[in-house]
Amino acid sequence: MIDLRSDTVTRPTPAMREAMARAEVGDDVWGDDPTVAAFEAAVAERAGMAAGLFVPSGTQGNLIALLCHCQRGEAFIAGQFSHIYRDEGGGAAALGSIQPQPIAHEADGTLALFAIEDAIGGEDIHHTRTRLLALENTYRGKVMPKAWQQDATTLARRHGLSTHLDGARLFNAAVASGRPLAALCQGFDSVSLCFSKGLGAPVGSVLVGDAAFIARARRWRKTLGGGMRQVGILAAGCHHALEHHVERLTEDHAHARQLAEGLADIDGVAVQACDTNMVFLAVPEADGRALEAHLASRGVLASVGATTRLVLHLDVGDADIPRILSAFRSFASRPRA
Ligand SMILES: *Cc1c(COP(=O)(O)O)cnc(C)c1O
Repeated sequence: MIDLRSDTVTRPTPAMREAMARAEVGDDVWGDDPTVAAFEAAVAERAGMAAGLFVPSGTQGNLIALLCHCQRGEAFIAGQFSHIYRDEGGGAAALGSIQPQPIAHEADGTLALFAIEDAIGGEDIHHTRTRLLALENTYRGKVMPKAWQQDATTLARRHGLSTHLDGARLFNAAVASGRPLAALCQGFDSVSLCFSKGLGAPVGSVLVGDAAFIARARRWRKTLGGGMRQVGILAAGCHHALEHHVERLTEDHAHARQLAEGLADIDGVAVQACDTNMVFLAVPEADGRALEAHLASRGVLASVGATTRLVLHLDVGDADIPRILSAFRSFASRPRA
């Protein structure tokens, strides 16, 4: 099956499994795992930050950041469709008593500076005190514009807010824009990075920030049950991904472009441009179920809905692109009753 449902579906390569099997390990809660320590340091260095913390998921990395930046009853600003607001089980509210302040996205996925400024609650005792601006890069496959990153983080700082970046796919943004990862982390107090998406590791994210922030984050990780023991086995897989799977993300981006170009020629499919490893499609609602079943019968797994997202990754090769396109073409030209 060619699985386009997400870039989380990748399986560890033989070389990655080999690196995991060889990893030297110790009890990481005691600070004894050299493989984890080396990996955290390597990620922090790439990100231009002082320290890193290995966490089991991006969701936990984001939650720990929220808990570090905000106290009970305080607010964070994020996009209406951001992952940290919409797709993390309400963790901020459920576990932190932190109030989300979502604001609408602009057409390009950014948040308008005036809207951010309007949403900031201040000293008036009626207001929720706003502590944090949380942004996302990439957002729906789009790379955050450089000037906006600078303007939004500067604005936050001017108002005394902390800044967090959900960089689940920040390596995709770095490779697509040709900018170093550290440049994409600039202006943020904390950044979370995923290794279990297009980078192909089975498990793992890293939260980066300054040393004092990471010390507090380490405490919250334990509180949340994210302190793991001989976890160098997992960190070794992520470290292998950091060394061997970053540059190759350009292949996923090229595949996404080829797919978008090919799909644009097919009747009844509206395709949206993308910068990285995703293609967004709209198909007539009545066709959704049938398309999904048709694709599956041709060996292509996709979740077709109101908007459909096809995600490219490590386990989709050059030869798969024509197979995907022909599955779509045969659907468009199917005999109808
Ligand atoms: C996947 C993802 C996360 C974290 O997800 P986990 O499945 O918890 O690792 C966070 N933000 C974005 C934008 C994501 O796509």
